[in-house]
Amino acid sequence: MGPFPPTRRGPTRRMTFARRTHWAKRAVLAPFSRTRIAGVQVLLTFDDGPHPEHTPAVLERLSTFGASAAFFLVGNRITEPALVEHVRGHGHAIGNHTFGHAVPRWCEVRASIEDVRRCQLLVPHATLFRPPLGKLTPGLWLAARRLGLGCMSWSLDSGDWRCRSAADAKRCADEVLKFVRPGDIILFHDDHRWIAPILDVVLPGLAARRLLPDIRSMARRSRT
Ligand SMILES: [Zn+2]
Repeated sequence: MGPFPPTRRGPTRRMTFARRTHWAKRAVLAPFSRTRIAGVQVLLTFDDGPHPEHTPAVLERLSTFGASAAFFLVGNRITEPALVEHVRGHGHAIGNHTFGHAVPRWCEVRASIEDVRRCQLLVPHATLFRPPLGKLTPGLWLAARRLGLGCMSWSLDSGDWRCRSAADAKRCADEVLKFVRPGDIILFHDDHRWIAPILDVVLPGLAARRLLPDIRSMARRSRT
């Protein structure tokens, strides 16, 4: 054995990122929240923005491919309302991701309704809702229902938030392309620096397989 004992956190340990949602979990969620979309394309979703630097980087890349997405915004991260308008102006769907991004306890109904409503005041055009960490409690579900928001989960978690290097970003992107299936709702985050290099691999890969929804298909979907 060498001078250093092997450690589990060493550089040789292989990290995995992307993960499909188990079918049983999707079945439990199904009456309350969408985990897949109809059709043969995928829906890209971005949580935890808007971010003054990384959200524009995502918008720019989506524009290059004429691709549409859904952005789930956190109320207390909206420092520039113009950035929200910018997202909308690109033809993307807006989602409410609560004001404070706190995970409420199962029984907290009133605080949940307040948290979702407070975010909605800042994103009045939002039509979708996603709970923090995807944990849909009765209070959050009720809050979304009262505001007429459609709850949306995902079927493929990219695991992007765990990336810490360019190598991680490449691996994460490769895994998304390996696991993706038509009809998937894919979870990304637009509040970190690795989302840009991830999209630089994922978007051409999805486009080559004709899985990217274009802006016009998103407009049709929001009308129905
Ligand atoms: Zn989140």
